[in-house]
Amino acid sequence: MTDLKIFDRMESEVRGYIRSFPVVFKKAKGSILFDEQGKEYVDFFSGAGTLNYGHNNPFLKEKVIDYLTSDGVVHGLDMATTAKKRFLESVDERLFKPRKWEYVLQFTGPTGTNAVEAALKLARQVKGRQNIVSFTHGFHGVSCGALAATANRKFRDAAGVGLSNTTFLPYDGYMGPDVNTLAYFERMLEDPSSGLDHPAAVIVETVQGEGGINVATRAWMQELQRLCRRHDMLLIVDDIQVGCGRTGSFFSFDGMDIQPDIITLSKSLSGFGLPMSLVLIKPELDQWKPGAHSGTFRGNNLAFVTATHALDEYWSDDAFKEQTQAKAAVVGDWLENIVQSYPEAGLSARGRGLIQGLVTPPRSGLASAISAQCFEKGVVIETSGAHDEVLKLLPALTISEQELQQGLEIIERSVGHAFAQQNSKKIVKIAGAGK
Ligand SMILES: *Cc1c(COP(=O)(O)O)cnc(C)c1O
Repeated sequence: MTDLKIFDRMESEVRGYIRSFPVVFKKAKGSILFDEQGKEYVDFFSGAGTLNYGHNNPFLKEKVIDYLTSDGVVHGLDMATTAKKRFLESVDERLFKPRKWEYVLQFTGPTGTNAVEAALKLARQVKGRQNIVSFTHGFHGVSCGALAATANRKFRDAAGVGLSNTTFLPYDGYMGPDVNTLAYFERMLEDPSSGLDHPAAVIVETVQGEGGINVATRAWMQELQRLCRRHDMLLIVDDIQVGCGRTGSFFSFDGMDIQPDIITLSKSLSGFGLPMSLVLIKPELDQWKPGAHSGTFRGNNLAFVTATHALDEYWSDDAFKEQTQAKAAVVGDWLENIVQSYPEAGLSARGRGLIQGLVTPPRSGLASAISAQCFEKGVVIETSGAHDEVLKLLPALTISEQELQQGLEIIERSVGHAFAQQNSKKIVKIAGAGK
């Protein structure tokens, strides 16, 4: 039996994932986690999208060790270092030049919410307006500025202060497939008495990771950009979870023919699970005064080292992108098959690239039951969505075909078990009701 006593005794009640996965993890390699008892788990969670290149990626690990051995600077505030210089060169070479992009980079404090705070702050400064439009089920972090743009009730309730200067509007598909939610937005913008304060910016995820794997279409994203341009609002794409290759290409909106004004990146940016966040800003919007936004840990040089090598190793040609797309097709087919195998369960599947969801009926508890079954059988997998109704498949992009297969088989068996369990409970209930 796993002993979690010290965590229960010493750690705040705020702890979260330990409750879904109640073991002590000791080791991790690629897509496999090992607990203290030596039990193995295929990781279909990947640190919520932080470990796109797997745990302890051997190539990146070697670069970290080399850097430490050579006494490279580890902490540098935002001073110039060799590691940062190499990172800037790689971003230019691997990301900007092939796309003919010009952005300036703002390094913020190390977590995603820090990048979102900076992006929102800058947008408000540039436009001289306070309001920001965010979308239903959007997730942008939990520090108060970013939290104001996060829809999740649990997090909003914890704020303790008013979360203002944000207007939530319906995301793509929120009113069903036949309603164009942006028509509503446009009507609000055109009507001076709609009650909508003219927004400085719109912040959006192309796929809502925490919100339930809701996917915005290319057409919707293009229309959103058109609205932003026409009504003088900045378009901020929060690519923290679904960027860095998760959807196949490096940026989730590659191929959508849009050009966001501001882009936020974090989670898998360092490639090694090291904290690192970045805001990409169109040069003409870079109206920061020197030092006007700071942070002690803007210069995590170990993260610069691994981020640089991740870009050089995986993004110098299209091979990695194609591998990810091939794996995504395997996952998509598998999920479709599960959906059809249990027609009575009311399941559906959705996603893009290697962020895919198995959607169960809301309030059925089925997704959480499947996740628990998976954990017992050796797969770490989380749920998302407003009612935790979506089983969220987020394997490392580097997962081997064999591990992918192994994980998917366990998920399929877990769906079967959880569904059978639920039905047998129902039958017991019905039988009991007759007495
Ligand atoms: C995780 C996440 C954030 C917040 O990142 P933290 O590192 O948890 O602060 C912001 N936006 C999106 C889309 C995310 O998935």
